Amino acid sequence: MTIRLLRTADLAEKIRQKTQGKEAPLIGIKPNLVTPSPAQFGATTHPEIVEGILLYLKEQGFHNLLILEGSWVGDQTAQAFEYCGYQRLSEQYEVPLFDTQKDTSFPVRCSDSMKDLTLHLCSCVSRIDFLINVPVLKGHCQTRMTCALKNMKGLIPNSEKRRFHSLGLHRPIAALNSCIRQDFIVVDHICGDPDFEEGGNPLIRNRIFVSEDPVLTDAYACRELEIVPTEVEYLMLSQSLGIGSCDLNEALITALSDPAEEDKSQTPLPALMHKSLRLNYATEELESCSACYSCLTQALNRLDEEGLLRILTDKMHCRFCIGQGYRGQSCKDQAFIGIGNCTRSFQKNIPGCPPSEDDIYNFLKSFISASC
Ligand code: SF4
Repeated sequence: MTIRLLRTADLAEKIRQKTQGKEAPLIGIKPNLVTPSPAQFGATTHPEIVEGILLYLKEQGFHNLLILEGSWVGDQTAQAFEYCGYQRLSEQYEVPLFDTQKDTSFPVRCSDSMKDLTLHLCSCVSRIDFLINVPVLKGHCQTRMTCALKNMKGLIPNSEKRRFHSLGLHRPIAALNSCIRQDFIVVDHICGDPDFEEGGNPLIRNRIFVSEDPVLTDAYACRELEIVPTEVEYLMLSQSLGIGSCDLNEALITALSDPAEEDKSQTPLPALMHKSLRLNYATEELESCSACYSCLTQALNRLDEEGLLRILTDKMHCRFCIGQGYRGQSCKDQAFIGIGNCTRSFQKNIPGCPPSEDDIYNFLKSFISASC
């Protein structure tokens, strides 16, 4: 599927035009390996898609290739490369893997309406002549969805990822995309999780699509997830910065498969779609990192499935406080449970940066047992 799409889109010609005949341009391929989890769980890019890209590029005479990624804070990219099948790809096709978590960085002053913001980008970004983004179309417990625009976060250092959360995520994600131009996008819409960024509830779609506009790509992803684009703040901000257009009515969409046949085989989105939003009604979030928030959501999901979440929230009136905004704040109220090291001054605190899903789940379960 990937090779057929790339041939139809004539990616090789786009690379030649952008790099203007440069001998051996460096082509960066950026998958989403947020966490060491195989693609079938719905969080990470299928290595088969990247393999298709490598085969196509080599067939077209491009051999100076680099697969680059940095997992989220709390996980190691090297493990994700190994578990997700990229180590094998690297050896088989002799394409190096580059861990952006280990890279140096350089500051970039954003332009125009974001000029008060200086971002730090991984140094490797400045070496890439042509960037191919290979995101997974999936839901996200903080930003509703993630696809092309948010996947660029893998190209900033960990310290900057934390800072993005302290800045509210949406504005810096839009600003980041005004600093890094992704030249081509291959979207993995095989089985992304419509609810959680780290997967676990894959929804099979068996689709791949390509695009040159990251904003249009994300608007299309919203449609697939039945989300109104205006609910995704960074998408609207990116459009206002001129990064691309959300207007799907103006888009020229070419289907290589028969849409009527495809529609027949699609299962509807699950009724519990956007479950993460429903679960977090008792969460007091203030600038939390994705990994931290996600571990909390998954722990709450487990408690909810066991019928325990309502005991915590309705009978014990617990609230879950999470995020960098709580640093230095103390709280003696036992009902306010601090999640992570940022809330270490809370009397009830679950330590870790981030604390694991198991740690949160076990702590809350013991808290119920001790109190009831
Ligand atoms: S404790 Fe959580 S919110 Fe605070 S810095 Fe660590 S991962 Fe981020």
